Amino acid sequence: MTVLTNAHTHLELSWLSDYCPPVSGASFVPWIGGLIERRWELRQDWERVYEAAVEDAILELLAAGTTHVGDITLSGKSIGPLLASGLKGIVYVEVLGLHPARLDDYMTGARDIIEKWRPQERNGMQVGLSIHAPYSVHPDLMRKALDYARREALPLCIHVAESPAEFDFFMHDTCPLVDEYYLRFTLSPIQAPHLTPVRYLEQIGALELKPLLAHAIHVTQEDILTIAANECSVVHCPRSNLRLRCGRMPLEAFQVAGVPVYLGTDSRASSPSLDVREEMEVAVALHHGRVPPEAVEALLAQPLPPEPEDQPNE
Ligand SMILES: [Zn+2]
Repeated sequence: MTVLTNAHTHLELSWLSDYCPPVSGASFVPWIGGLIERRWELRQDWERVYEAAVEDAILELLAAGTTHVGDITLSGKSIGPLLASGLKGIVYVEVLGLHPARLDDYMTGARDIIEKWRPQERNGMQVGLSIHAPYSVHPDLMRKALDYARREALPLCIHVAESPAEFDFFMHDTCPLVDEYYLRFTLSPIQAPHLTPVRYLEQIGALELKPLLAHAIHVTQEDILTIAANECSVVHCPRSNLRLRCGRMPLEAFQVAGVPVYLGTDSRASSPSLDVREEMEVAVALHHGRVPPEAVEALLAQPLPPEPEDQPNE
């Protein structure tokens, strides 16, 4: 079987394809705010919409020849269909939230979904945990989630260093993230740590669990070495990154540092398709002159999770 891995999707968001920004792009922070509002507008219809979206998305993945997927689900709606789909990979149940009084509720919500589905893992599809992103997760919730992932040996995925706004907020405490995310939704902002988002994850103990890091665009050379030293892997979603005006991930620097990099399409809310070969074509053009096309193409052939023979130390 030829491996074709799409390591970053949100299948339950496939109903938002009309929300995908044009090639000319849209800024990340207003985009994520609008996405949250579109979810609220579904009200009691959400279950039916999510279930249909997942069904369509799995057909799209299979039609593209996908064999392995790394999917994020906040609702849990993609887990059953993925376990039955014949696709291999990991479906990560997402936890996020900032309200100090609700941290246990956020954690319980994710844990209940994981505990329901993990005993039903089959066909090479595993259940994991996604801690959404440093800016959207209260530090105490981050610690609780990391403890849980460690205790249960759960595969872990974290979005990090995706937008320039996230980097600016973490380093300098001032950016659109405050006005257009925290204030817009009356969320209590986390205290800016004056660290890069990657360094923050290291300090809070996240990187030692070797998470799959989604995006990792706004990283310093030191961040890349830190990611390498912690044996984390990264998933690169260039079409989403371009459409959300997030910039170019320094793929060549990750390759020099020996960090495993996957390709992913991200959700249909920021990507025109779930065909990871189309993602690869854009990646080849984006990194032209820095990364050979063959090396970009090879990123598709790595199974998620890695199979034992791909891990020389085991
Ligand atoms: Zn994502």
